[in-house]
Amino acid sequence: MPLEYQHLISNNLKWAAQKKAAEPGYFEKLSMRQQPNFLYIGCSDSRMPLDTFTSTEPGELFVHRNIANQVSITDINFLSVLDYAVHVLKVKHIIVCGHYNCGGVTAAYKGQATGLVGNWISPIRDLAKEYAAELESIENETLRLNRLSELNVIRQVENLYKTHVVQRALQKCHSDFQIHAWVLDLSSGHIIELPLPDGLSHK
Ligand SMILES: [Zn+2]
Repeated sequence: MPLEYQHLISNNLKWAAQKKAAEPGYFEKLSMRQQPNFLYIGCSDSRMPLDTFTSTEPGELFVHRNIANQVSITDINFLSVLDYAVHVLKVKHIIVCGHYNCGGVTAAYKGQATGLVGNWISPIRDLAKEYAAELESIENETLRLNRLSELNVIRQVENLYKTHVVQRALQKCHSDFQIHAWVLDLSSGHIIELPLPDGLSHK
């Protein structure tokens, strides 16, 4: 049954009280500053709160999420997050994390999305055409879509390297961060680290 609105407020009160009881001063410390080591770029899907899957606390993940975890080099929102994460927060890891059973990936593959969403995920449709031979060789549709989710993450890492922010960091040797490609298997709750193709790494 979907959670009722009022539960959000009552749950928050309970959670804050538990935190405070377990660690007096927790919120005073939390409100002072953030010093996250990780930038998480993920899908907006409600099943993708990476802090839950990684048991991380507030203050540990700097987050940008959008439908189907796109790294769009024309998205000023995303680019601002990336710039701030790299040059101000100086994160040590940038994680692009997709997931299996991604509605955005499925809709792109099947040509089901229209309007703004259709426009947003059209790069995945192009990606599916680019990898049509590999994808069509996978008979099972779920596995085929899972593979497209993986290809999508790797393409977004490629896009990350094309951004001015990452390029500038690499040129100035301020690239004290690693880039990772992950997919989350929702059927097991496990993170899968994807190998990056040769040449797609700076470490
Ligand atoms: Zn998704």
